[in-house]
Amino acid sequence: MMSLAGVYIEGTWQHGPQLLEVINPSNEQLLAQVAGGDGAAVARATQAAQDAFAGWSATRSAERAALLRVIADGVEARRERLVFLQASNNGKPLAEAQMDVDDVIATFRYYAELADTLDAGQDSAVLLPSDAFVARLRREPCGVVGLIVPWNFPMVTTAWKLAPALAAGCCVVLKPSEVTPLAELELASIIAECGLPDGVFNLVCGTGIAVGAALAADPRLAKVSFTGSNAVGVQVMQRAAETVKGVSLELGGKSSMLVLEAADLELAVELACMGGFFNAGQMCSATSRVLVAETLYPDFIARLKARAEAIQVGDPFAGESEMGALVNRLQYQRVQKHIAAGMEAGARLLCGGTRPSTLPCGYFISPTVFTDVPLDSALWREEIFGPVLCVRSVVSEAEAVALANDSEFGLVASVVSADHQAAERVANALQAGLVWINAPQVIFPQTAWGGYKQSSIGRELGPWGLSAFQEIKHVVSAL
Ligand code: NAD
Repeated sequence: MMSLAGVYIEGTWQHGPQLLEVINPSNEQLLAQVAGGDGAAVARATQAAQDAFAGWSATRSAERAALLRVIADGVEARRERLVFLQASNNGKPLAEAQMDVDDVIATFRYYAELADTLDAGQDSAVLLPSDAFVARLRREPCGVVGLIVPWNFPMVTTAWKLAPALAAGCCVVLKPSEVTPLAELELASIIAECGLPDGVFNLVCGTGIAVGAALAADPRLAKVSFTGSNAVGVQVMQRAAETVKGVSLELGGKSSMLVLEAADLELAVELACMGGFFNAGQMCSATSRVLVAETLYPDFIARLKARAEAIQVGDPFAGESEMGALVNRLQYQRVQKHIAAGMEAGARLLCGGTRPSTLPCGYFISPTVFTDVPLDSALWREEIFGPVLCVRSVVSEAEAVALANDSEFGLVASVVSADHQAAERVANALQAGLVWINAPQVIFPQTAWGGYKQSSIGRELGPWGLSAFQEIKHVVSAL
């Protein structure tokens, strides 16, 4: 069992006072103990970041780009170790853990490219309707930022915040999820060796109450960038409001896949399984409502049941596993509660709903599909964050769009149709930040991440992810 320091401040690893027990969800065994921090550690980390800010924000952007590339190279060099830790701590199959690491590398490389161009574009002329004045626009790093991330894609959600924050010239305090700190700590050790000045990157592991809340309240921060549940997002926003600091929020989803009349059924079934069962459904972007044209519905349901029942669930390190465990006992119990409540509300269980009989321990739940789900039930309306799909037949494109948009969330959506015009028309009508057409859930660093309504405030990735860490200043001079 590993025993790890969980605090990194001003270039030094420290053992904090809060002991976190890290469990392997595939076998329920203790994997590691992490000595995490508390409010005092957050205060020291924030001060270190503040002390480093003047120097770091004045560096040339090409210098910051070079350091981001060193981090990307370091992640690539330690790929195998990171995959092992991600699979062990999250219970996700090796292929999925590898995708996480690839995403981290791509994100650091992308923001290195953007950082390369930052100095040249830092000051740009502004056209004014007057000859008596000239003006320029400057983009400057916003200051010290707190980054709070969840457990479902550790390292990935971190990279989406950390790479643009460092590229912009901000200093950071990162708080990983207390449930999945292992790959994050390895990533932090790569960053610690990359040559960043001390104090630019700081990390405090710990619980949301002891560390996250202290970070959200710290008056020295210019901004908190948070990914997690809506309930905690609201608390972060409330704490940040006390000192009027900026917030970026990436929260929950209840997204739809729309299978239109002209859809290729085989593709639709494959995409429905990916959208619902990838990462054991623990995705804010899970397309957990599947809306199927009524002409295709009977065939679709039969094929989906067969495909879902054939999915190999099991240990991430077993080569044949296609779906792994839920992240911990709490999440396993939450998903079971949702399944039971769905049945009580009158939904029909098509398949799954229980632990696979071949897996006596570990937090495994079989791929689960419901039909006839009441539209006012929690199963239909709330984020389940587990391998649970609700499938429904629709009579028209208009009904599909109306049902998809009938949600307090608006993160993503997916459309399946061989009629490209129809798919594009439907994509335009959906209230979602990202729509895939006949595609799996591909995420590129160049396209924005974030959604409508209660799914998000702001956007990550792309130039929007960078500008989230910049202030805008205009300088106007009289001629
Ligand atoms: P969570 O909200 O419980 O925790 C997220 C982070 O906040 C953790 O690091 C946690 O320790 C911390 N935290 C908890 N209480 C806090 C408090 N009072 N103040 C400050 N920080 C606190 O979420 P989770 O269970 O780790 O992750 C699952 C949730 O994350 C889901 O709702 C999912 O939709 C969401 N999510 C969203 C996105 C997105 O991009 N929109 C991506 C991944 C996950």
